[in-house]
Amino acid sequence: MIPMVDLKIQYALLKDEIDAGLHSALDSCAFILGPNVQAFEQESAQYLGVKHAIGVASGTDALHFALLAAGVKAGDEVITTAFTFIATAEAIRYIGAKPVFVDIDPRTFNIDPAAIEAAITERTTAVMPVHLFGQPCDMAAIQALCERHGLKLVEDCAQSFGATEAGRQTGSIGLAAGFSFFPSKNLGGYGDGGLVTTDSDDMALHIKSLRNHGSQVRYYHDEIGYNSRLDELQAVILRVKLKRIDAFNEGRRRAAHLYSELMADLPLETPHEDGIGAHVYHQYTLLSDRRDAIMQALQQQKIGCAVYYPVPLHQQKVFAENCKGQVLPVTEAVAARCLSLPIYPELTEAQIREIVAVIRSVPA
Ligand SMILES: *Cc1c(COP(=O)(O)O)cnc(C)c1O
Repeated sequence: MIPMVDLKIQYALLKDEIDAGLHSALDSCAFILGPNVQAFEQESAQYLGVKHAIGVASGTDALHFALLAAGVKAGDEVITTAFTFIATAEAIRYIGAKPVFVDIDPRTFNIDPAAIEAAITERTTAVMPVHLFGQPCDMAAIQALCERHGLKLVEDCAQSFGATEAGRQTGSIGLAAGFSFFPSKNLGGYGDGGLVTTDSDDMALHIKSLRNHGSQVRYYHDEIGYNSRLDELQAVILRVKLKRIDAFNEGRRRAAHLYSELMADLPLETPHEDGIGAHVYHQYTLLSDRRDAIMQALQQQKIGCAVYYPVPLHQQKVFAENCKGQVLPVTEAVAARCLSLPIYPELTEAQIREIVAVIRSVPA
């Protein structure tokens, strides 16, 4: 039995430090926007190379607030990818803006800069790339086209904590970015959590107000906001893990590279690293015409695997009206052939060899 992710190993490893931190936070009873949230915000801003990092209740809220603070309004068009988790598009829709889905690069699965450029209309105000599976998008190209067309750039970094592009951290490149601390993410809490990053003082103030009922001074409210603060206990856990994020990501890269090496001779496509930056392998996703047979073989041996994502967003029922008749050939071909294998920093060489042996046993 090998699960998709095993959160227990990391907890066992960090238990003493996490438990001590939690107990001390419990003793302090400073539960809302306490010292650990403040410290985590400072530590993550420093790690990511941004001026401001603001803790919120989830990655979905982080993206929503990043778009709001960037000034995206109802009726605007926001260009993004259909090959992502629904939250990317939900954040756009919460504002009343319209997600415009464009196609992806067939090898990196990330949004195709040329497709962005082709989809720009007079209503387009923002672009939201997703650093999918932990691989940074071609941000130099996306940044250049945003500058050319006067568009706001907001990054979805839910899967890319610690990934770099040309030496820059993802989440430090656009006007603002949203991160998720969902337990299975590269930097995961033990519950929901998220982070918005920006270099803009004005946007940071606005995001702090949005997460706290539209208030900057207690009991004075400037706008309708939300109750969406990063939880103090989650901040305790995230501080412990942030110190080790580079080692965790290195463990994922090591596992991914071993997988690819062991499967190099098989008739399937292992993940492509485009060399633009450091892939942090939130997922290890291959392409195969025998995807369903491989899945079945793995499931029979009680080895975790999953299709991320089986239904691209332009084909989701919720967007049926919006996207009627839209065809995204690359996205659809990838969705039909993709398969994600178990990956986490502590995955062992023996486990990887066992998984590859099962894949190797599937008839061509
Ligand atoms: C996980 C995820 C989110 C949402 O994060 P939550 O913390 O679960 O709200 C958004 N976008 C992508 C690409 C994700 O993978």
